[in-house]
Amino acid sequence: MNLHEYQGKEILSTFGVGIQRGIVASTPEEAVEAARKLHEQTGTNWWVVKAQIHAGGRGKGGGVKLAKSLEEVKEKASQIIGMNLVTPQTPREGKKVHQVLIAEDVYYPGPGPTKEIYMSVLLNRQIGKFMMMYSPQGGMDIEEVAESHPDQIFTEIVEPSTGLLDFQARRIAFNLGMQGQAFKEMVRFVHALYKAFVSIDASLFEINPVLKTSDDRIIAVDAKVVLDDNGLIRHPEYTALRDIREEDPTEVEAREAGLNFVKLDGNVGCMVNGAGLAMATMDIIKLYGGNPANFLDVGGTADAARVEKAFRIILKDPNVKAILINIFGGIVRCDRVAQGIVDAYKNVGDIPVPIIVRLQGTNAEEAKKILDESGLKVHSVIALQEAAEKVRELVG
Ligand code: GDP
Ligand code: MN
Repeated sequence: MNLHEYQGKEILSTFGVGIQRGIVASTPEEAVEAARKLHEQTGTNWWVVKAQIHAGGRGKGGGVKLAKSLEEVKEKASQIIGMNLVTPQTPREGKKVHQVLIAEDVYYPGPGPTKEIYMSVLLNRQIGKFMMMYSPQGGMDIEEVAESHPDQIFTEIVEPSTGLLDFQARRIAFNLGMQGQAFKEMVRFVHALYKAFVSIDASLFEINPVLKTSDDRIIAVDAKVVLDDNGLIRHPEYTALRDIREEDPTEVEAREAGLNFVKLDGNVGCMVNGAGLAMATMDIIKLYGGNPANFLDVGGTADAARVEKAFRIILKDPNVKAILINIFGGIVRCDRVAQGIVDAYKNVGDIPVPIIVRLQGTNAEEAKKILDESGLKVHSVIALQEAAEKVRELVG
């Protein structure tokens, strides 16, 4: 689950991670009120107005603007709220901005220079350990740094059983060129960041930039925080942070129906029971030259209503040229699935694409009978290979 910058920062701050302070707002009036409050809390006289969308690169797209007066806060907030923000990380059509974060300006002058740092925490699945990646070349596109100055990207592998050790935190601060007070602050910052990552079951932190301020504070100016969906059960307080306006509407609908659905780019709709079988089905479609339009696991307890829902969700995708239904009837009975297909056919009306059905297992014969007697144009097959061949034949 992706969080907004303001949500991520709030969580980080509860773990003692220094942040650029801010208040979220949904209207220009709220933005001015937020700026006024922030002035009282922090003394800041300049503010940044930051679009809250689930995508980075907002600065480049005009979604991050400095305001030097309350009038400017209002003006910039009016420009950004409601805008369609296009960045290198949004879909081509952009994303609509519903909220802005009004944040204190932290690039103020002081005794020393400011310095922008890149830092991320992630799980390295290959080695089964956590990893902190960081670079003194922060602020800009990290992929660019990786290309032009690969020696400027550092990694620190963290053993989950010991956690981040003190010498590792110091090595990070050293490699980042921190000195004096900033060095101490950086050591504290990375410890707090790692603790937050593990405690909330995050799957990714990307803080770009971490800022060394001109007076040697270390703070997160940006925060990309991704929570592991499978860990959410341990953190019910975070489920309310989900912003479904940012998510694929079909995936939201599927989740609400209890279906495990991921939209893909191909043209063969898939309805399968069990994640493993769904993966195998997608593999075999690919093997036969096709391309799956989605991953969809109807689960072990799929009844006719659920199958119909799955059907409707698949058909929403205009790219779908055929639907392959592959159900192994163990707990789920094939006749129920067949009934679901027939009901969906009746309720949805004219289904414009061919359907290939492979039902195996409990009540498979009853299922075949239901489909045969329904008078529907479904291609019933026995072997998965046969199903994939049929898909290729029909989709071309
Ligand atoms: P992103 O473009 O989506 O990654 O958004 P960021 O939160 O990283 O902000 C983009 C850029 O805005 C940063 O790299 C900074 O250069 C700039 N910025 C952010 N906060 C401030 C601030 O308080 N003052 C000033 N002057 N610039 C800021
Ligand atoms: Mn950023």
